[in-house]
Amino acid sequence: MLTRRPYLVLVVAIVLSAFVTLIAAWVMSEMRHDALASARAASYNMALLFERDTARNLEVYDLSLQAVIDALEDPRLAALPADIHQNVMFDRSATARDLGVILVTDAAGNVVYDSRSIPPRKVNLADRDYFLAQRDAAHVGLYISRPFMPRVGPQEASIGLSRRLSSPDGSFAGIVVGTMRLDYFRQLFSGVDLGTEGALSLTLADGTLLMQRPYVESLIGSDQSATVPFQRFGRDASGGFFANGPVDGVRRWFAFRRVQGYPLVFGVALGAHDIYREWRIRAWIIGGLTGVLDVALIALGVLFTRQLRRRGELEQELREQAGTDPLTSLANRRAFEARANSEWQRARRTGNPLALMMLDVDRFKLYNDRYGHPAGDGALASVAHAVGAHARRVGDCAARYGGEEFVLMLPDTDEAQARVVAEQMRAAVEALAMPHEGSPIGVLTVSVGVASTSDGSFGSWRALTQAADDALYAAKGAGRNRVMAWQPDLTNNAHGAGVAG
Ligand code: GH3
Ligand code: MG
Ligand code: MG
Repeated sequence: MLTRRPYLVLVVAIVLSAFVTLIAAWVMSEMRHDALASARAASYNMALLFERDTARNLEVYDLSLQAVIDALEDPRLAALPADIHQNVMFDRSATARDLGVILVTDAAGNVVYDSRSIPPRKVNLADRDYFLAQRDAAHVGLYISRPFMPRVGPQEASIGLSRRLSSPDGSFAGIVVGTMRLDYFRQLFSGVDLGTEGALSLTLADGTLLMQRPYVESLIGSDQSATVPFQRFGRDASGGFFANGPVDGVRRWFAFRRVQGYPLVFGVALGAHDIYREWRIRAWIIGGLTGVLDVALIALGVLFTRQLRRRGELEQELREQAGTDPLTSLANRRAFEARANSEWQRARRTGNPLALMMLDVDRFKLYNDRYGHPAGDGALASVAHAVGAHARRVGDCAARYGGEEFVLMLPDTDEAQARVVAEQMRAAVEALAMPHEGSPIGVLTVSVGVASTSDGSFGSWRALTQAADDALYAAKGAGRNRVMAWQPDLTNNAHGAGVAG
């Protein structure tokens, strides 16, 4: 019953709101995972596209260099006029888009063929890293150089792709090198949606930065090998991780991918702030709505609990009022009968005596007639107070039985003890000394009839009550203002006893 346990409503409200909060938290955490998953996929795909595009172009460039080597090794071409020789040698490379110039040097680094000029421009490349690498080792293959400014042609930062030329005996005979403008990578990086904190990079395997977005000219060619992201790039062919940016400290998701077959690493970084931007907005909305819902649920729970408690109190009050006599504040007859019934059962179980006394005000009709009904009510309240004062123990019950009749029930009390209490009550009323002209002694008095189960066998509490009533009649008959205990012969001739007095 909810009126008995009103707080249950609040408990249910709290459990419900906790449940709602849990669901919201779960949904938000799933959404956060999804946000990272799609950022991962986007960065992975970007790196993959960069790698594929670059690998394909490098392959084409390498084919151009190979074509030059093939042409140089074909003795029939040496006999051709210089301009035709030039066309044959550099023919295929003409289609390569971002390749700047192709140069062929001798073993001393002097340019001997120049794809853009006949005769070749006078340049020596002996100090370039791509020359030294090919000179000092026989099987470097395609070498990708550090960035540099070309000594011939437009001044655009470039890298060199070189291959070794060998004499028939295998000794170093020079190199063929094609320059590639770093702007190619800048173009590759542009136009990609990176959010506000995203970044892209291309580094050589040794950590030399070739290109980055956002573009910072002074950083091109710098050594990035000591930075946290690059150190993590070093380990696998591809992967991803969260780290703080080496320059700005911003937390980013880093994805990297090595270009297959080349010492190049693409890095894609997406700002954590950007990755979770959409999620954050939704989290605020869901969190806010959940908070409102929780507050509403608990507020409703509190309100409902309060209403239920008030209702419970009212019910209790009504129950008490239903069992209380308004004039005297004693239990009324109905409440008394319920109590009498339960005490009777208990007395039967325990075998302890149960005493009952009936009390009636003497010559009260006269009192009313002489002093008026309102004064009579006041006198009744005083008598009730004296009666109630004798219900001292837990099971005791004092009640207004009828108009000016009262009853006092005392569990675990035998007749002798009950008589003592009854006499105290009678004396207490007499001691109130309420003037009553109709009384032989001039004050209001009461008569009391006593009966206890210690004194005879009664079939029910009603029989016990009747016995006390019979004793009361006897007391009236015997002159009033006195206590009489029930005796077996009373019941037989009770109503024959004089009550008129
Ligand atoms: P007895 O000594 O034989 O009891 O004489 P009595 O006049 O008291 O007779 P009885 O008990 O029959 O009279 C009851 C009277 O009590 C009748 C009624 O006027 C009065 N009475 C009953 N209830 C109330 C009440 O609530 N207020 C007042 N003022 N009088 C009441
Ligand atoms: Mg009476
Ligand atoms: Mg009376």
